[in-house]
Amino acid sequence: MTARILLLGGTGDALTIARTLGPAHVYSLAGLGRVPADLACTVRVGGFGGAEGLTRFLADEHIALVFDATHPYAAQISANASRACEAANVPYWALRRAPWQPQAGDNWRMVSGWAGVTEALAPFARPLFTLGREPLAHLDEVPESQHWTIRCLDAHPGHARARVIDARGPFTPEGERTLFTGARIDVVVSKNSGGAATEAKLAVAREMGLPVVMMRRPTLPDAQREFASAQAALEALAHYTQRSFNA
Ligand code: NAP
Repeated sequence: MTARILLLGGTGDALTIARTLGPAHVYSLAGLGRVPADLACTVRVGGFGGAEGLTRFLADEHIALVFDATHPYAAQISANASRACEAANVPYWALRRAPWQPQAGDNWRMVSGWAGVTEALAPFARPLFTLGREPLAHLDEVPESQHWTIRCLDAHPGHARARVIDARGPFTPEGERTLFTGARIDVVVSKNSGGAATEAKLAVAREMGLPVVMMRRPTLPDAQREFASAQAALEALAHYTQRSFNA
């Protein structure tokens, strides 16, 4: 029998892996973004109810392996998954995408949390936020001296000093140049997500001499096995399912 895998997702890499899983396996999403309707595996949507809820889920659903392919800034679900796996004695594997590294010509200002972002932005007039939906919760805090451009997955009307662009990567250097120039961006705000899909903004910031306010990564729990790419994860999972099928 195939040992059942719970894949924790919400990223492009997770979807790549989910596309290879058969009906015995479960792909789990928080429910904030699009839910794919064309997968062979079981798709479940919504939280588990903390580490305790996830521990119960692992037992009830006879999960043999948890594979964490969530975003590197989704620290809560990763912490919960690690704890639940320990409690349920289930292996915890993870895709840990390597962070981007600053290159010659980069002007990165490392910050922690929203307070760090707003402090670093004080000297600037036209920031581009690429942090997801978090800036939407602060639309009433846009300083008189600033105009915000916020790119995220949510459609939102914004207001006179905040424009919201709902767009999904991958983004190209040409597209980023057009956006930066048209919106007169003078600073880019980013998470250090790693990967190629959203990296073009960093190359264009470098070429235009713009600073980048970079949010530090949260600390994530250690996994029993960690993979740096979806490809490496796919090979290990294929090996795992083959071995458990033969066992
Ligand atoms: P988070 O703060 O780590 O998690 C908050 C809560 O959401 C978790 O405690 C859990 O609820 C639920 N949850 C998160 N991911 C889940 C999943 N894959 N399946 C089921 N429940 C999940 O997460 P977040 O930063 O809000 O991100 C939410 C989702 O968006 C994640 O799946 C992540 O991969 C994706 N995402 C996040 C970012 C980012 O920058 N944070 C960027 C791109 C994509 P319970 O405690 O009730 O189980």
